[in-house]
Amino acid sequence: MTQSPTTPLSADSPHGLAAVEQEIARACKEARRDRASVTLIAVSKTFAADAILPIIGAGQRVFGENRVQEAKGKWPELTQAHPGVKLHLIGPLQSNKAKEAVALFDAIHSVDRASICEALAKEIKNQGKHPELFVQINTGEEPQKAGVAPQDADTFITACRDSHGLQISGLMCIPPVDQAPAPHFALCAKIAARNGLTNLSMGMSADFAVAIAMGATHVRVGSAIFGTRTVVHN
Ligand SMILES: *Cc1c(COP(=O)(O)O)cnc(C)c1O
Repeated sequence: MTQSPTTPLSADSPHGLAAVEQEIARACKEARRDRASVTLIAVSKTFAADAILPIIGAGQRVFGENRVQEAKGKWPELTQAHPGVKLHLIGPLQSNKAKEAVALFDAIHSVDRASICEALAKEIKNQGKHPELFVQINTGEEPQKAGVAPQDADTFITACRDSHGLQISGLMCIPPVDQAPAPHFALCAKIAARNGLTNLSMGMSADFAVAIAMGATHVRVGSAIFGTRTVVHN
């Protein structure tokens, strides 16, 4: 007999969601935090619907994508079939994609410059939709990375509110891959605190427990749930 051509994630093949859930619960307990204070964003970039459906089936309701175009291709059908599912944009946003981003996403984690603020403010007004907004901070001041430099953060956050009329929910950061993440999480938390922001999007597969200890309210976990990405995708 020939094998079925596609067996993406059979009922008995383990996925990492349960292990990630367990680790989040452990990290919350250790930090004396309520489990409900941390939102798990399952980062499904590069994975198709047949890999995402079992994770929805297991009860996960918040998903993250880093490209507007990719999300537009696979999510409308999934969210229509599963109305409780929320979608977060965690990757860089171009102004010319703001319209699609506001239409598609419940949260945007990559607000980092005036042109994006302008485009988002316009679309929020036009569409009457209010995605939750996070300002991305480039805590490692890496030239190739998106985000506002730490020394410009206070001015930028104030401008989001006062010049663009945007309600900012929190801050997001991605520590440099070759450094200990804790000081970056601490810096992000400090900037949020002095700007009166309560939400912190920080922590990925390798460091979400550390992020929870340092106050993360949103952890963005991909490979620990879905497995290794075979497509290279930042
Ligand atoms: C891909 C991605 C993640 C998830 O990374 P993993 O290491 O697979 O958990 C989190 N945040 C952002 C911004 C990403 O692009």
